[in-house]
Amino acid sequence: MIWGKTWRILELLDLADEASKIAHAPPSSALGIGFDFRRSDQASIGERFLLAEMPYGCIRFHRAEFLDVFVNHLPTGVAHFRKRVKSYEQDTPGDPITLHFNDGSTAECDVLVGADGVKSMVRAEMLKHIASTKGNPDLLDLIDPFFSGTIAYRGLIPVDKMPKGPDGSPHRTIRSPMMYCGKSKHVVSYSISQGSIVNVVTFASEPEKEGAPAYDGPWVTEVSKQELLDCYANWEPEVVDMLNCIERPTKWAMHQLKHLPNYVDGRVALLGDAAHAMTPHQGAGAGQAIEDAYVLAGILGDHHTQLDNIDTALRAYDHMRRPLASHVLQGSRDAGRMYEFNGPQGEHYETLCPAIQRQWEWIWASTPEEDLENALKWMKEQ
Ligand SMILES: Cc1cc2nc3c(=O)[nH]c(=O)nc-3n(C[C@H](O)[C@H](O)[C@H](O)COP(=O)(O)OP(=O)(O)OC[C@H]3O[C@@H](n4cnc5c(N)ncnc54)[C@H](O)[C@@H]3O)c2cc1C
Repeated sequence: MIWGKTWRILELLDLADEASKIAHAPPSSALGIGFDFRRSDQASIGERFLLAEMPYGCIRFHRAEFLDVFVNHLPTGVAHFRKRVKSYEQDTPGDPITLHFNDGSTAECDVLVGADGVKSMVRAEMLKHIASTKGNPDLLDLIDPFFSGTIAYRGLIPVDKMPKGPDGSPHRTIRSPMMYCGKSKHVVSYSISQGSIVNVVTFASEPEKEGAPAYDGPWVTEVSKQELLDCYANWEPEVVDMLNCIERPTKWAMHQLKHLPNYVDGRVALLGDAAHAMTPHQGAGAGQAIEDAYVLAGILGDHHTQLDNIDTALRAYDHMRRPLASHVLQGSRDAGRMYEFNGPQGEHYETLCPAIQRQWEWIWASTPEEDLENALKWMKEQ
């Protein structure tokens, strides 16, 4: 899912028409449902405790179809597949950066943008480099993601296989993005692909395990349907019936990064999960990567940016994007706690509901155009 701010970037890139065709339904700036929050960890029928609405609501895609919208517009010859970067060298300021790949080949570049995900090699090398040159070994603690204390189960259900409501009506989640909440667990479900598929992600937390080192084993595994059903036994029927329709669930260990003090070092920058991998509780990690890319591309494409001031240009990116992405990283963590009644508000709906609503304020606090403009202004002031 993405939110209105990311949608604006698709409009600016002239990709909104194409993305509209593969969304759950064509997005509209009118008030839409973000999530319908419901208390569901009991065998009897649950109750709504909050309907969170905002312009555009939550805009939903099948991930592969969404990526294709971007990929289809790449000029030919700019992407090289089956290459794995092993290390990079940025020895003399001003000289090109040398990349070393696993297959023994090398390449040179003026700017290296590490968009290599939660286990980023570029992040590891960058933090090691800053730690050794600035004499700050504490930075090494920020390289590895840590376990959030939460595991997720995921699955897709064709809409015609969804269970009906007790009165024979279509399942509620086909119409509304649902947030089924319970103590230390929650279940998210919503339609994607023009309403033809329902995406389900369920979460189960042991909050006291937050901060444990990263999982040793595989972070993603296939699991039996029974394991999934056992986890949500005694939840309300519309949740259990839906989970029963997931044929091959997968189980994911959710990790996140600590806040980094830097997204750039010389001519090297981090982007997306490499810089700020977060838990998915605001559905915002990919959107933040897209915001990073929009601002970074705007700075690099500005006519004031030249080879001899690229360091400053990248610092402008860091200056603008790091506080915003850090805010969403923290908000995602806190949102997960609130949905499972483990936040400071506990189960007090009077304070919990406004707190849940407030978590989305970053979406309209600034526009992507304003963020880019501010970054360029900062760069010129330097
Ligand atoms: C369960 C779950 C649900 C989520 N739901 C949402 C959501 O609804 N909305 C949202 O906005 N976000 C969501 N996210 C977060 C989102 O998936 C990530 O934030 C997003 O994928 C980050 O994009 P990225 O390009 O930075 O990293 P990635 O998508 O991880 O891509 C990194 C790429 O780099 C490649 N790579 C890695 N190392 C190297 C190397 N050494 N050399 C070359 N290539 C390399 C990888 O193969 C990969 O292709 C969710 C995450 C999870 C786990």
